Parts: sequence; structure tokens; C-alpha cells
Amino acid sequence: MTNDLLVKGRECGACTVCCVNLTINDPELQKLPGVKCKNTLKGGGCKIYKSRPKTCRDWYCMWRFMPGLDDSWRPDLKGIVIKRVFEGIPAGYENKVALDFEIIGGKKAIHDIDFINTVGGYIIQGFACFMSYGKPRTATTMVFLNDLLSAAIESRNITLIKETLSKAYKVCVKTPKDIVAIKNDEIMIIPAKKK
Ligand code: SF4
Ligand code: SF4
Repeated sequence: MTNDLLVKGRECGACTVCCVNLTINDPELQKLPGVKCKNTLKGGGCKIYKSRPKTCRDWYCMWRFMPGLDDSWRPDLKGIVIKRVFEGIPAGYENKVALDFEIIGGKKAIHDIDFINTVGGYIIQGFACFMSYGKPRTATTMVFLNDLLSAAIESRNITLIKETLSKAYKVCVKTPKDIVAIKNDEIMIIPAKKK
């Protein structure tokens, strides 16, 4: 997505979610996922804004690009950061943007009715939707939601939708995760021990 497509007038404000959430592996800065960057300012902002690394310059969450999502979808407020997915998109979904709803706000976030309506709407329209969760210093686990949720969405049964989302979240949380570490100023992945 080019920065020309950012929603006009929308700013990050006090949100610093990506300064915690992102993995950065640039020559001048390596940062592990889920670990607050040493350059984050209290109350939002970046100590080295003008010279921040390329990853920080280039990366925006999808809320910055999606005019249909109101200000309540700012990631620090919603407890969900939406990321574009480029890999692992199931056959039949490649022609549309795929979205990962990474949960950072726990169960409260996944039972938010606005989240349920939004993800349900995208699934009905044929967009691939994933849920993910990652602990600090680990890779995230992504679960494909379309197949899991389609029957519940068709039934319009909110209880069933919430139960299905809870199950998906449990899988995201419980699945062993690859460890992300810094060695010799480079990010390395240590594969999770399979149970
Ligand atoms: S997560 Fe999105 S809204 Fe928050 S600081 Fe990053 S780009 Fe801005
Ligand atoms: S360098 Fe600045 S913009 Fe980049 S992660 Fe750190 S605080 Fe955020």
C-alpha cells in the first residue's frame, strides 16, 4: 500500500502500538516483537522521529488506510491491530486484500460487537481474515477465520460467533511459538518445540 492511500487527516495520536508490536531488523535498530522500543516517548511519539529506521518510516497498520473504520479502531483503543497479510493466503482469496486482526487486548477485544460485525462483514465480502496473537519475543500464530466462522455468521447467532472466536483465540494463544531473538545484531528465529 502506498502512503498516498493513507486516510486523509488521520494520525496515530497517542498510539504507539507498532513501536511495541513490530519486529525491526534494520541496520541501525533491531527490536524484538512485543518489546517497547527504547526510542518511544512517554505519551506517544519517537525520540528519533526524523532519523527513524526505514521499517518505521514505511510501516502503518491498516487502520491508517481504511476509511470505513472509525477512530475507535485506533489499535491502542480497540485492542486489535490490523495488519495486511501477504503470505499463507488460502486458494480462492488471493485477489483481495487479506487481513490479520492481531489481538492485543485479550478476550474483551474479541467479543467487541464492532469487531464481530466488521470481521463478519469482510468474511461475507470474501476477504481472507485471520486472527493472531503473539507473546513478547515470539512470532505470532495466525488462525484463518473464514472457514471457522462462516456457518456462525450465516446463522447470525452472536453467541455462536463469540464462542467460535474464543476457540480461535485459544488456538492462537496455546500454539507453541517460534522464539525471536537478537544475536550479533541480527534477528534470528528459534523454532518452537512441538508438543
Ligand atoms: S499501530 Fe497504527 S495507529 Fe498505532 S502507531 Fe502504529 S501505525 Fe499508528
Ligand atoms: S524508532 Fe521510533 S518509530 Fe521506530 S519503533 Fe522506535 S520509537 Fe517507534
